Formats: sequence, structure tokens, C-alpha cells
Amino acid sequence: MANPKRKWSKARTARHRSNWKLSVPGLVECPQCHTLKLGHKVCKACGYYKGREIVKTSEA
Ligand SMILES: [Zn+2]
Repeated sequence: MANPKRKWSKARTARHRSNWKLSVPGLVECPQCHTLKLGHKVCKACGYYKGREIVKTSEA
């Protein structure tokens, strides 16, 4: 069987590997205080998650 050496070129693989994780660190903007927070986690700045206050912050 004649098999192709590789499916994608080295350049394409390198490009893919170099940038796949840059935009997916799990960071989202908090809708409450608009700071960057971890996705699917309670915001550490304001204690909000899904529009409700989950963790009481010291100032409130
Ligand atoms: Zn917040």
C-alpha cells in the first residue's frame, strides 16, 4: 500500500501547535465586574457566578 508520508505539512503542524492554546486558557470576562476570571468558576473579584452572588466578598 502506498501511504502518504504525512497528512499535513510540517509547516501546517507547526503553525497549529504554536497557536492552539493561546485563545483557550479558560479565561472569560466576568459579566458582573468585567475582569478576567476562570470560566465555570466563581469570580474571585466580586464573588458572582451565573448572575448570583455565591461568595461573599469582604466589601459587601
Ligand atoms: Zn466579577
